[in-house]
Amino acid sequence: VGPTIVAGEILVEIMATERGFGFLEPQTLTGPFPSGAPAIFIDQVGRLGGGAGIIGCVGRDDFGTLNLERLKRDGVDVAAVDISDRFPTGCAFVRYRPDGGRDFVYNIAESAAGQIHLTTAARVLADKAGHLHIMGSTLSIAGLKEIVAYAGKAVRARGGSTSFDPNMRKELIAGADGALFSALVDDADLLLPSGDELLAAAGIDDEQQAVTALFARGVGEIVLKRGADGSSWFGADGARIDCAGFLVEEVDPTGAGDCFGATYLTCRRQGMEPGKALLYANAAGARNVTRRGPMEGVAGFDVLDQFIAGTARRT
Ligand code: ADP
Repeated sequence: VGPTIVAGEILVEIMATERGFGFLEPQTLTGPFPSGAPAIFIDQVGRLGGGAGIIGCVGRDDFGTLNLERLKRDGVDVAAVDISDRFPTGCAFVRYRPDGGRDFVYNIAESAAGQIHLTTAARVLADKAGHLHIMGSTLSIAGLKEIVAYAGKAVRARGGSTSFDPNMRKELIAGADGALFSALVDDADLLLPSGDELLAAAGIDDEQQAVTALFARGVGEIVLKRGADGSSWFGADGARIDCAGFLVEEVDPTGAGDCFGATYLTCRRQGMEPGKALLYANAAGARNVTRRGPMEGVAGFDVLDQFIAGTARRT
């Protein structure tokens, strides 16, 4: 019934090339790479041939061009991306802790991404969309609340669906609206949390109990991301499918969850069973971590089929 759409930050990302440096000391950085969780997600939807569109804002600068060209190349409708003459394209700096964790320094609020609002072009895109994917990280942007409300209503009025990835970044959730967050969880036809996010969304410290509680609140299906260990699917009727992770060398974990979610959703929207969709999603997430740059590992079905055939999985 129409393309999958997202709204939110389109950024460039500049990242450390080695683990273990703080941002207070000089180090070798690399980039810029096209980035922003919603942009990574929708680029992967486009790569898979699913109809795709994004509501966002970039500056009239090279970082904006870098992103727009990539999104267009991969089949994403960028008609609802505003180009700001006053604000530069947003950016994120990433460093990797020795334990594999990541820290981000974002420039979103004072960049073009922070200026996103419900424009005429955004309404036009929302009015023809079949699915709205929402990410928790974007809710720190002032104008997103109105866009999510408008687009959610428009998509539902056309018989479409929604998905929600809590994508809680400690750097971005400080100003988040807890009530809105809960409502987005409750309304999600598909919820895509990591383990910690699942427990936080339910306010319960046990995985199975959290899943049960979220279904009682109206969630349609839950796909849990488990990093290198793969993922699990939970159906509202109590069914469960586990999918072991692929054995890969992790070069850069940023973007795995977005590629994973985009692939699962697109497979399901194309009528695939949850188990098969989960396998493709696992492959997309695993392949993405083997590439430096959050959007550099996006892949179409041909590449994913080859990856699945040629890559061992954890037992
Ligand atoms: P997020 O980025 O949202 O925290 P994850 O890190 O769990 O999400 O990654 C999403 C999915 O990508 C995982 O469920 C898994 O399928 C795949 N993945 C991520 N990291 C790895 C890894 N190191 N090895 C294999 N697969 C991975």
